[in-house]
Amino acid sequence: MRVQVDANQCQGHGLCQMTAPQVFALRDEDGHAYVLEEEVDGDLATAAREGADSCPERAINVG
Ligand code: SF4
Repeated sequence: MRVQVDANQCQGHGLCQMTAPQVFALRDEDGHAYVLEEEVDGDLATAAREGADSCPERAINVG
């Protein structure tokens, strides 16, 4: 499964990183999220989906 963060939609709330720190991190420069692993499966895919669900901006695409 592929995970992507839409940098234009991300507002840097950090909920994705709090929910799934093994998949998402925040940039030091602007506090916006990026993915540590673009291709995930198993437990990481589950974590990525939970992180996507946690995003209030719907900035994370999984699939
Ligand atoms: S939860 Fe959404 S808006 Fe917040 S940092 Fe993560 S991707 Fe960005």
